[in-house]
Amino acid sequence: MKPLFRTTASAARTLSRPRFQPSTLPSLCIRPTSTMSHSVPKLNDPSLLKTDAAYVNGEWVKAKSGKTFEVHDPSSGKLIGSAPEFDAADTQKAIDAAAVAFPSFKAKTGRERSKLLRKWYDLMVENAEDIAKLITWENGKPLADAKGEAAYAASFFEWFSEEAPRVYGDTIPASVAGNRVVTIKEPVGVCGLITPWNFPAAMITRKIGPALAAGCTVVAKSPGETPFTSLALAALAHRAGIPKGVVNIVSALKNTAEVGELLTTSPIIKKVSFTGSTGVGKLLMKQSSSTLKKLSFELGGNAPFIVFDDADLDVAVAGAIASKFRSSGQTCVCANRLFIQAGIYDKFAQAFAAKVKDFKVGGGYTEGVTHGPLIHDRAISKVDAHVRDAEKKGGKVIQGGQKMPELGPNFFQPTVITGMTTEMALASEETFGPVAGLFKFSTEEEVVKIANSAEVGLAGYFFSKDIQRVFRVAEALEVGMVGVNTGLISDAAAPFGGVKKSGFGREGSKYGIAEYQVTKMITYGGMGQPLQK
Ligand code: NAD
Repeated sequence: MKPLFRTTASAARTLSRPRFQPSTLPSLCIRPTSTMSHSVPKLNDPSLLKTDAAYVNGEWVKAKSGKTFEVHDPSSGKLIGSAPEFDAADTQKAIDAAAVAFPSFKAKTGRERSKLLRKWYDLMVENAEDIAKLITWENGKPLADAKGEAAYAASFFEWFSEEAPRVYGDTIPASVAGNRVVTIKEPVGVCGLITPWNFPAAMITRKIGPALAAGCTVVAKSPGETPFTSLALAALAHRAGIPKGVVNIVSALKNTAEVGELLTTSPIIKKVSFTGSTGVGKLLMKQSSSTLKKLSFELGGNAPFIVFDDADLDVAVAGAIASKFRSSGQTCVCANRLFIQAGIYDKFAQAFAAKVKDFKVGGGYTEGVTHGPLIHDRAISKVDAHVRDAEKKGGKVIQGGQKMPELGPNFFQPTVITGMTTEMALASEETFGPVAGLFKFSTEEEVVKIANSAEVGLAGYFFSKDIQRVFRVAEALEVGMVGVNTGLISDAAAPFGGVKKSGFGREGSKYGIAEYQVTKMITYGGMGQPLQK
């Protein structure tokens, strides 16, 4: 089979070799698509698929060891290509390049940095279709969702191109006569960025946008499962004329811990921004303590999604579908525990399950597919374990509940379970998959207490038409973000981040740039002398 892209010879050979054989179609109601859905995309600009090289100091470089790791399509299991396995020595070169680039990038005016970000944004919009195809290819999400992500990712460059020229300090009335106090905002320095696979484009632009707007230079470690989208963004950065060394994108899979350790312990790096699991966040924080870095951590969630009796049922069902099943449940703000008040529970469960039954599961490129695969077999095992655990403890699967081997090893039926209790694993662990467990509750006080019992606090949602309750519950939930009568809250204009073990720091919005700045205070003494005659 002729390869469609510039991949390695071995990659090209393997492109035609499936890792599993399709068997029969499932008997359950959720509609699977045929295996035709596992097609390979044709990019408008094939040069955007960068294999075997990472982007350092404005150049495409291989790992010194020559080692690479393979990246597979989660829908089909087929090889997409390979990416360089960087080690600490390779990454150090990227850090050094970012350090050399920092003084001159810091010295640019906000307006100059704004124009660079705007150019990068324009190129992302121009190439949005290819970016979306790459996202679907390596992440598996349906193409329509991937297009949404490409636009969302680009919006951070647009937003922060507008923030870059609007960085202000303060003039502060001093307590000491004759003193004048002002503050200026300075870029913190070289930043290490680590992002996950679930939004291969948006998680990285949400960090690079504000970093560059502030005047920082960056070394970003792309996710092992989805390096090619980040590398395509690097190709666009190059075309946009981002000066060499300002943006460096490295890749690693086996060497991830080694690269992570360097990013968190290097004295050159002044800030680490990480999005990923709480467990890895704790490790990175510990490692960063040796150099006391500025940190922002966007970690795991376990979002409560509460529907009160007085909610608009249709709005609540639509919100739950969007919040729970977006990207097949693999977002950090996905509803994880759905609490439905007793008076509306049965109606909600019925209407919700009916919508889920209509999903079309399959490969992301197939027209009409609404839900794709999970990222890998470990994700499938966790989801399956949560469903089996709930069943064992008395939960009733009213929709889905099974793996879909006929589509591939990474597919799981979108699932609805009723009769959930707090003893079940799903109540305390982030499922990160297409399983909605419905818990019944009686009072507002009770549900807020259970919702807040989680160790993490990223997003929370609730549905109600009672205006007093709306204010009360929004303020009572221990989370960083609340959706009231909506299941979708992400927006470049809005501050994104959590509390408790979901981390700290905010991304996007007018607050996002501050994570990459330090406030310098300057006191001018002996000022305000009488005018000379
Ligand atoms: P993960 O923590 O395993 O990995 C995230 C990133 O960290 C990856 O790029 C991975 O390669 C890297 N990594 C892993 N171990 C590392 C180490 N020792 N040193 C340096 N880097 C290391 O998380 P995941 O399973 O890939 O992603 C899912 C998790 O991310 C979920 O918990 C989800 O809630 C969370 N998430 C949070 C947000 C948010 O904004 N709060 C957004 C998306 C995902």
